[in-house]
Amino acid sequence: MSVCVALNHITKAFGTTYAVNDVSLTIESGELFFLLGPSGCGKSTLLRVIAGFYRPDVGRLMFDDLDMINVPPHQRNTGMVFQNYALWPHMTVGENIEYGLQLRKLEKPIRNERIGTVLEMVEMSEFRDRPVNTLSGGQQQRIALARAMVIEPSVLLLDEPLSNLDAALRQNLREEIKEIHRRTKITTIYVTHDQVEAISMADRMAIMKDGVFIQVGTPREIYQHPADSFVASFVGETNFISGNIKDITDGKATIETEVGVLHTESIHHNLTPGQEVSCSIRPETIHINGNTGLNQLTATVGSITYLGRTEEYELRIGDILKLKAIIHNPGTDPVKQGESVSISISPESVVPLPMN
Ligand code: ATP
Repeated sequence: MSVCVALNHITKAFGTTYAVNDVSLTIESGELFFLLGPSGCGKSTLLRVIAGFYRPDVGRLMFDDLDMINVPPHQRNTGMVFQNYALWPHMTVGENIEYGLQLRKLEKPIRNERIGTVLEMVEMSEFRDRPVNTLSGGQQQRIALARAMVIEPSVLLLDEPLSNLDAALRQNLREEIKEIHRRTKITTIYVTHDQVEAISMADRMAIMKDGVFIQVGTPREIYQHPADSFVASFVGETNFISGNIKDITDGKATIETEVGVLHTESIHHNLTPGQEVSCSIRPETIHINGNTGLNQLTATVGSITYLGRTEEYELRIGDILKLKAIIHNPGTDPVKQGESVSISISPESVVPLPMN
């Protein structure tokens, strides 16, 4: 049975370093929840607090209505998958998966049945009798996942499970983990610094920095309405144009920037006229020689990178600003390097953010 995981003012310090600093959050039963942030922001520490490997200095941790703080790791019914697989190399695939079931003193026929089910789930049935040290990295990670799943955990904890794998394998395993989650609906907490992984898989995610949550939301909410410039640049690519709010009328702002006036649609922050802001503009929202309307600028085309599905442009505005634009499905007659172009940005794509 999947559980709801509630963190209440969790703090964990190592000496004078606050790895996790007063963090509160409720992860719903059955959610696929991501902790996303740069190296050293405290994601693994928080996961280890949930697993029971670290005791927080302050705070409460609840699985449904059970207080977990004094429950040892092996009694929390969590399954864990690590970046480096952490399998027992001298054992076969079957033995690795069976270990947790033996600890739980399940009868042999039940153990066999469960091992068969999870191996099918990760599409590794024919490898049951192979020593794990003869498997590839991707196969070993599938076995690590099977070993975590076989105990039917209430919470599945994944710590950078795909970081050691190449890009194609990562992509495959993302799909598989998502599908396994969809079928089992186990509450899953997944740590990564890879924003593509988080955006493509998460029901919701928390963006962490220096031991605190900067923003919690769905991938769409976070991508489209980042809380600040750190989130805007960490989750996806973006351009920043700094400016000063001239006016706010009907929730729409007019911003005086270094390259002229920019107009926004509804703003999602508590901003006031006169305030310094940083306008986040995603590269894919910049149109070259396209539609007209508000927010027209003139730019010179710098470098051009053709990537098949997309084409990337470096655009220079005067001597002061470089913007990146991404065009999808590029045509056969692109603009040329050095050409002067008009660019337009629709008001809903200009996202003014408070200065950090
Ligand atoms: P990464 O993605 O690099 O694994 P992370 O976001 O998971 O990073 P943590 O491993 O949780 O970050 O570390 C958070 C902070 O706590 C870092 O400054 C780290 O150096 C420190 N830290 C973590 N574990 C310990 C420990 N056992 N002893 C001392 N300091 C630690």
